[in-house]
Amino acid sequence: MGRRTVRAGRPRSAACGAGGADARAGIREADALLLTHAHADHVGGLDDLRIFSERSGQDFPVYGPAAALARVRERFGYVFRRTQAGGGKPRLSLRPVSQPFYMGRLRVVPLPVWHGRLRVFGYRLGRFAYITDVSKIPPATYPKLRGLDVLVLDALRHEPHETHFHVARALAEAARIGAQRTYFTHICHRLPQRETQALLPKNVFLAYDGLVLNLP
Ligand SMILES: [Zn+2]
Ligand SMILES: [Zn+2]
Repeated sequence: MGRRTVRAGRPRSAACGAGGADARAGIREADALLLTHAHADHVGGLDDLRIFSERSGQDFPVYGPAAALARVRERFGYVFRRTQAGGGKPRLSLRPVSQPFYMGRLRVVPLPVWHGRLRVFGYRLGRFAYITDVSKIPPATYPKLRGLDVLVLDALRHEPHETHFHVARALAEAARIGAQRTYFTHICHRLPQRETQALLPKNVFLAYDGLVLNLP
C-alpha cells in the first residue's frame, strides 16, 4: 500500500466514481474500493474502475456489506457474465466483510450505521473514519470512533432528513465523537460553501470536490 489518500467531496468520487480514466478526479492509482452501500450515487461510476484492473491485470478488490455487494452483482450483471473480450469491462473481486480486516498492512474497521432503515457501513482506517450516509449511529459503533484525528461525516442540509444527518445533528454527533477535525460530506446545493462554513466551529469544515485528505 503506497500513499493513503481519501477523497471526501462528492459522494460519487468518494465511493467509486473516480476511476483513473476520470482526469477530473485525478486518481491514478487505487488499491481497493471500500463500498458503504449500493445506492446509485455511490456505485454509478463503478465501471470506471476498469482502468485499475486493466493496468494491473488483476481483479480489483471491492469490500463492502454482503447485501450491498449482492446489489452490485445485480446492477452490474454484465461485469460478472462471460461476454466477448473487446468491451473493456472492469474485473472486480467482490469481498463481503463485516469484521475488521487488512488491506496489506492497513487495518480497516467496518462501522455499521443506520441510513434510514438500511444498515450500511462507514469505515475506519487508523485515526481516520468515514461515514458518508447515516441517520443514526448505533451504540456499539461509538466506541470504534474513539481517538480520531479526522472524521468525515454526512451533513446533507439544514432541514432534518429521513435518511441523512442534517447540519445541527451532524454537529452534535461530531462533538460527541470528538475527532480533532471533522469534514462534512454529502452536502447538497442548499448549503452554500462560504456562508455555511462561517456557521461551523473552527474544527469542522465543509468538504468540497477535489479535497484530498492524507490519512494520519
Ligand atoms: Zn445512500
Ligand atoms: Zn448517498
